[in-house]
Amino acid sequence: MRSDFESFGRVRPGPRAAVAGPLTAEALRDGAPGAFLPFGNGRSYGDTCHNDAGTLADMRGSARIIAFNPDSGVLEAEAGVMLHRIIDYCAPYGFFLPVTPGTRFVTLGGAVANDVHGKNHHARGTLGRHVEQIELVRSDGAHTLSRNANPALFGATIGGMGLTGIITRVRLKMMKVGSLNVVERLQPFATLGAYFEQADAADAANEYAVAWLDQLHGERGVLMTANHADDGDYRTAVHAPRLSVPFELPVSALNHLSLRAFNAAFHFAKARKAGRDRVTGFAGFFYPLDAVGNWNRLYGPAGLFQHQSAIPFETARQAIPAMLDASRRAGQASFLTVLKRFGDIASPGLMSFPVPGYTLTLDFPNRGAKTLALLDDLDRITVEAGGRVNPYKDARMGAQTFAASYPHWGQMEAMRDPALCSDFWRRTALALSKNGNGSIATSDLQQNLTKVS
Ligand SMILES: Cc1cc2nc3c(=O)[nH]c(=O)nc-3n(C[C@H](O)[C@H](O)[C@H](O)COP(=O)(O)OP(=O)(O)OC[C@H]3O[C@@H](n4cnc5c(N)ncnc54)[C@H](O)[C@@H]3O)c2cc1C
Repeated sequence: MRSDFESFGRVRPGPRAAVAGPLTAEALRDGAPGAFLPFGNGRSYGDTCHNDAGTLADMRGSARIIAFNPDSGVLEAEAGVMLHRIIDYCAPYGFFLPVTPGTRFVTLGGAVANDVHGKNHHARGTLGRHVEQIELVRSDGAHTLSRNANPALFGATIGGMGLTGIITRVRLKMMKVGSLNVVERLQPFATLGAYFEQADAADAANEYAVAWLDQLHGERGVLMTANHADDGDYRTAVHAPRLSVPFELPVSALNHLSLRAFNAAFHFAKARKAGRDRVTGFAGFFYPLDAVGNWNRLYGPAGLFQHQSAIPFETARQAIPAMLDASRRAGQASFLTVLKRFGDIASPGLMSFPVPGYTLTLDFPNRGAKTLALLDDLDRITVEAGGRVNPYKDARMGAQTFAASYPHWGQMEAMRDPALCSDFWRRTALALSKNGNGSIATSDLQQNLTKVS
């Protein structure tokens, strides 16, 4: 039986149990170093949401919407509330999330802790830009954080991957929209050069823009752009997935043949609708993958790795084709390949992932050493291009890649609550740190668990 606490890539099993969050300052203080880590809904792909040497604090039970002001659009909610509940709650007042990731099954606290981005980064920046206030519990007590109140800790907590403390409440400014529906336009392209030519103008003219690439078929793809419609339709869709992968497949169902067939069908379907504006429901546009429950099971028991890089404008036109070539040459097709332009709106988050430039996302079935070697190659190309690798999509990057991606990681380590640590942080920052040691003795852990349970 799989754990309730696995991460989305399922490369390693999640723990069987967790304590209920949020923890009190006393519980954190009484814990051994690195004893805890908050857990949202496990939609991170790798090990930033795991703490195998300690225990997880499951935040999903703390999920109330506290207040919403329909004049200002400011929402206050507990950190464990899922984004789909926020959408449901605010839609009747004409508001939507200012920034949304590609799934609505994530918690508000997890989304802030990863400072998620959406298809409108060029227009709105990351989610952290829209956070007005955070309530945080650390070993040294409770803190109210904002751009004015303890801005350093506020910035370290946005994108801080659960390491600065436990976010208990968030005040978020929602976005007024004319409809939840969007008016979408699809523009097929035959080469990456053609995409790069269109990307700036597409961002300038649209709230949302993202491209899908058919990695098995040269450089072709489809640029999808959209703006909210003005038809006043605020109905929210039923959130239960219409299709579901009911059980674990014995091997990955994704291979060159199935991928080729899927890509050809997808490209054909999109090309048929190209060139004209179409009104589309919000769920299909923002969350197409949510329509298939447990789709990550298609990758089989060994799971999947996602590689997401952010590459500066100056080097993107060389580095992105180089990464696509590297995966082709390695004989490893990416099932889902997404390319997007990041804008230059800075996040308050110290460890926030986006940089002005382009971001490429590749999904690979885990084929062991062969896949790991490819991912190392992708890291190398990214770092040589002056870019960075996304930590919350990662399950294996080395400490050197991390240091090159986030040279200021030491500032984050200085703000970390000593009671909190993750497997990712041990593998990267603590391996780099001369003094750092996030590991804890089993006896200390047992003692600690007894205290908080
Ligand atoms: C299909 C799919 C599409 C996605 N698309 C995007 C996308 O477009 N853009 C993007 O940016 N991301 C995307 N993601 C990634 C996902 O949105 C993020 O990883 C998200 O932050 C996960 O939230 P979660 O609630 O599942 O948190 P978890 O994955 O459980 O945890 C995330 C991090 O937050 C910390 N955390 C959780 N709760 C708290 C809390 N209360 N206090 C402090 N720290 C906390 C955890 O310790 C961990 O470090 C996608 C993921 C999937 C599966």
